[in-house]
Amino acid sequence: MSTYHENAVDADIAVIGLGSMGSFAFWQLASMGKSVIGFDRFRPGHDNGAGHGETRIFRTAYGEGVAYVPLLQAARELWRKLEAETSVELYVETGGTMFGPKDDNFITTVQESVQQYQLPHKVYEGPEAKKEYPQINFQDNQVAVFEELAGFVKPELAIETAVKRGEDLGGTVYTNSPVTRIEPDDDGVSIMCGDKQFRVKKVIVASGGWTSKLLPQLNLPVSLERQVLVWYKARNPELFTPDKFPIFSRVSKGRGFYGFPSLDGETVKVAFHHGGVTADHPDHIDREIHESDLLALTEKVKKYLPNLIPEPVKAKTCFYTNTPDEHFVLGPAPGLQHVTLLGPMAGHGFKFAPIMGEIAAELATDKTPSLDIKMFDPNRFQ
Ligand SMILES: Cc1cc2nc3c(=O)[nH]c(=O)nc-3n(C[C@H](O)[C@H](O)[C@H](O)COP(=O)(O)OP(=O)(O)OC[C@H]3O[C@@H](n4cnc5c(N)ncnc54)[C@H](O)[C@@H]3O)c2cc1C
Repeated sequence: MSTYHENAVDADIAVIGLGSMGSFAFWQLASMGKSVIGFDRFRPGHDNGAGHGETRIFRTAYGEGVAYVPLLQAARELWRKLEAETSVELYVETGGTMFGPKDDNFITTVQESVQQYQLPHKVYEGPEAKKEYPQINFQDNQVAVFEELAGFVKPELAIETAVKRGEDLGGTVYTNSPVTRIEPDDDGVSIMCGDKQFRVKKVIVASGGWTSKLLPQLNLPVSLERQVLVWYKARNPELFTPDKFPIFSRVSKGRGFYGFPSLDGETVKVAFHHGGVTADHPDHIDREIHESDLLALTEKVKKYLPNLIPEPVKAKTCFYTNTPDEHFVLGPAPGLQHVTLLGPMAGHGFKFAPIMGEIAAELATDKTPSLDIKMFDPNRFQ
């Protein structure tokens, strides 16, 4: 901790928030040989933020925009890199199917992605898709794009692994340590955390849904949206193992229904994408599960996954930090020198964590980002 000598610093760079994104920035900075300190208001791998619930979808054929594909290809390499460095399995390639009405913007953009980047894939009409994956009751008027490189990553384990690897490479972690204020000046940044003060040259803010509370002066037009993840038992669990069942995402008009293979050999996790209630603060998210959270999802299960028993056996809440255009926030924080914003990441950021962490580390070390991040410019809201 600094005792405030004029030029004394506690580290080159601080990462505030060691959740989905910050954990990876922390690992990348430590890998670069930088002195880095990381803070989290909880213990990394916790279930109070956006990075929990056992699985997150990874896909490269990207309905949210073809421009994301190079980032996803780079992210995939980095998922494998962290696995190789730690011998921990984080990314399971099951293949994935995105399906929906032929003319839906999401599906047509998925198809553009596979064509433009020659991603290994197959396209089926509904009846053919049903023959290939009888676990899913594809509708006759739907088209299904099967992407080979899709799969799932393991959020809690990934966050813990990235933080641990960063520590092994020399980084320092402060857990259960909420940062209350950051004060940039010409020479660096002062960080207030409880009764302690730290001094660093640069800061990466990766505090997810709490960013608007930490930096209210940015007036980020983000909103918090509660989401619910629900597990159902399979009648024939052997049909839902990761080698037999792909991740799936059925999207239409911006709303979605998605699910994963079984991790425990008994249950399958499914959820809706969007449609949740909003909250004014991450600490005020309703964590209770209500009957109304389950009814519509159970109806979808009956319609699309007849081999699941339509009685929820487990559920968890989580939240998105949505941006108006659903693109991420990544870049220098407007008006705050030496501060890089890494997030908020809307409702689809987890799969990108390694590449977002790497680019934030590049920005914080005054390097030119290795990939195009124009669409994430924090200034676009002003
Ligand atoms: C239900 C659900 C399903 C999702 N499914 C997918 C999916 O399948 N695929 C996908 O790619 N994405 C998915 N997402 C989106 C993805 O999980 C998020 O985009 C991502 O987790 C956001 O990461 P983050 O680092 O910004 O936030 P978080 O992971 O919440 O991290 C923020 C961290 O900052 C810490 N923090 C906050 N304030 C402070 C402070 N003042 N001081 C210190 N620490 C602080 C918090 O404790 C937290 O650890 C899903 C999200 C949800 C909720």
